[in-house]
Parts: sequence; structure tokens; C-alpha cells
Amino acid sequence: MKVVKFGGSSVSNAEQITKVIDIVTADADRRIVVVSAPGKRHGGDTKVTDLLIALANTVLEGADHEVALQGVVSRYAEIQQDLNLPESVVSTIEADLRGRIETRGENHLQFMDTMKASGEDNNAKVVAEAFCKKGHPAKYVNPGEVGMLLSDEFGNAEVLPESFEKLSVLKGESDIVIFPGFFGHTRSGEVATFPRGGSDITGAILAAAVKAEVYENFTDVDSVYAMDPRIVPNAPAIDLMTYREMRELAYAGFGVFHDEAIVPAVHAEIPICIKNTNRPEAPGTMIVPERKYEQTEVAGISSADGFCAIYIDKYMMNREVGFGRRLLQILEEEGISYEHTPSGIDNMSVILQSAELRADKEVGVVARIAAELTPDNINVEHGLALLMVVGEGMNYAVGMAAKATQALGDAGVNIEMINQGASEISMMFAVKDIDRKKAVHALGSAFFQA
Ligand code: ASP
Repeated sequence: MKVVKFGGSSVSNAEQITKVIDIVTADADRRIVVVSAPGKRHGGDTKVTDLLIALANTVLEGADHEVALQGVVSRYAEIQQDLNLPESVVSTIEADLRGRIETRGENHLQFMDTMKASGEDNNAKVVAEAFCKKGHPAKYVNPGEVGMLLSDEFGNAEVLPESFEKLSVLKGESDIVIFPGFFGHTRSGEVATFPRGGSDITGAILAAAVKAEVYENFTDVDSVYAMDPRIVPNAPAIDLMTYREMRELAYAGFGVFHDEAIVPAVHAEIPICIKNTNRPEAPGTMIVPERKYEQTEVAGISSADGFCAIYIDKYMMNREVGFGRRLLQILEEEGISYEHTPSGIDNMSVILQSAELRADKEVGVVARIAAELTPDNINVEHGLALLMVVGEGMNYAVGMAAKATQALGDAGVNIEMINQGASEISMMFAVKDIDRKKAVHALGSAFFQA
């Protein structure tokens, strides 16, 4: 059995929903279908989730919310008309929204979640109706009723462990299951949502719960690319990569996919396939626990701006027991998470996301390090970008770092720092922000001739 998830752009209008029906019914193993709320129909459009957030805010401000409500209803009305579904579909959605507004409680965050969740909830009902209309028995399933239990961190909820066992009953459904993404219920029965983009999480949970043969995640690109196609337009597609490669790539801004979203599928070792709703015949990208690889083979190169580094020098640092622990403890006590800690005999540096070390925090952290660790020198450098060169085969290959540094050197990019991950399937290079694109091009032509 396959669990299939369709993102907002794949269910944004009648034409897209028709493609969804064709894709699902083309493969009898596609039994569980997770849908997002209708997304953007074109460049300047607004996602239904964003319309719902605006509507909820209008209600909370006590302002007249009729126009905002009709804005949401009209998105479904357009789909209903174009798919020739009964008009009652739309009146039911309107009544549902009014009901959510009228029965709201005191907790604003909970109300916001109830409104956001309606986007996928109502869309799943519409999509189920559309399947049936075309003669394919399909059934809307309510997440709360079937046991998608979440923590009560509204807007940022996490799945509770008992959900998996409960959700496994979906294996026994004879109709195609249409399951709304993005939300579940708390133990006390309130609606709670995952973070934005959370329908991916729903799909991964269901795939793990029913032990799916594969979790297919349909979006609007053919595959994951070895480099950001906005920087390198002819970047090659990645056909196959491991979870570890995906994680190392995703960590430094690798578009398409939110790696945290698929954790449940990764834990259950369910292969994940990224595919395009608009070109389902394209093979897509498979992400698997293990793969065969060539030595020297690079899976991809990712890059992201917005990093900074704290450099600390102290003569005889290597003899000072506990230096690293005390440094990291200062960061811990200040609530700062870090990315890398390259170090040398007398120096240690910590690479962080700039957002973790805002100007006001920086002064305090530097002062604490100076006072508590008495280094010879401490210096914070901003405006760094990280590049990750990732591939399982790199573990065994000789000369990969030389090839990368040569390429960067030839392109005139100064390397601020190098770190070979302990996993040895990645090399990290820190460069100045302004050199990022040049660096990606240089590494791209060295490893992919792109
Ligand atoms: N509709 C929600 C959002 O826009 C969840 C999702 O599409 O995955 O964030």
C-alpha cells in the first residue's frame, strides 16, 4: 500500500484535483491520500491557509469578517462549480466556518488552529466528493476520530506516540481514504495543527502507521536537484539518495522538502518518493535508508546564507580540560543552538545561524566567554554562507576535498572554514555571503560539470 500526499498547488483548483484523481486511480496501491488546503493557483494568488489566518485575525480583532469569510468560501465554490459537485458542498463549508467562529473559546491560539485546520478538512471532503463523482469509491476520514493525537502546542503540535497504533486501522479500509493533512486533535479533543507545511508530517505519520511500501509526496517539481536550480539552472536531478544525504543537504537550505517533516517515515524506514503532480510520468526522487553508490560520487551541493562564527584563540587550549564544554555550556545557558564546531590545537570556532546570535545577545555572550574562559582573542564574524558537498561515497574517496578547494580557489573564493562532518558523508565550506553563488557554480562544475 502507498500513502500519497498532495501539496497545496496540487489541489488548488478543479484541474489540479482532476490530475490527483487520475494519479491515484492509475495505481491500485495508492490507498491513502493526504491533501493540503487549496494553495496558489498562480503567482500572485493567496493560499487558503493564509486567507483563513487573515479571517481568524479579523474575528479576533472584533472587526466585520464577512468579506474575509466569503473570500475563503469562494475558493471552494469555484472548485465545486468546475467539478460539477452539488451546491450543498459549499453551503456545508460555509456553515462549518461560521460554526468554528461562533463556538470559539478563550484560547486564541486554539481558535487560530481550528480555523487553519478547516482549510485541509474542508478540502478533503471536497476531494472525496470529487473521487466519488468520477465513480471511484473514496471516503473522507477525520483525523481526530481515527486517532491522530497531537500535543497541545497549538500551531506547533507534535504527534503523540499512541497515534501510530490507532492510525494503523486505516490499512483495513476498502475505499480510498482521503485524509486532511496538517492537523489532529489533542487528548482533550481540541483541534491542533503542526507547523506550517505540516501536511507532509501527516503523510509521513500515516505511511509509518500503515507500514506503507512507499510514501509518495507530490509537489510541483519533477525531482530534487543536485543544486539549487535558481543558481544552477542545468543542475542534474537526483534519482536516488539516502535519508542521511537528504538530511545533510536539507540542513543548509535545500528547497523542496522540509526534512523534519518526514521524520516518522525515516524512523519506520519507509522509502519516500518526491514526484510532480503535473508530470507524474517523471520518475521523481527516491529517498531510501541505504543505496549503492560509486566512490567519489556527490549526491548534491546545498548552500545557505545567514550564518556567523565565533572564533576563540587561547595558547595551550588543548591542555585545558573542559574548555569546549564550558564554551558550549555558555551557549546552552544563553539558549543558543549551534551548527558546527571546527577546532584546532589552540583555537575553537562555533558556527551559528545569525538569527541565533542577535546583536543584543552577542554582546553578552562575548563578554561571558571573555570573562569565564579568558581566551587570548575572541572575534565574531558575520555574513557567512555555508556550502555542503554531500555524498555517501565520500567516506571512502580520496581527493574530494582537494577537488573542492581547487575549484573554489580557481574561482577566487576565499574559504573561511572547512569542516568534514563526523559522518564523513559531507564536507562543509564557510565562505562570505557574497561569494555563495560563485562558490556553488565552482563546485557544481567540479563535481557535476554543470
Ligand atoms: N496548508 C498548510 C500550509 O499552508 C499546510 C500544508 O499545506 O502542508 O502551511
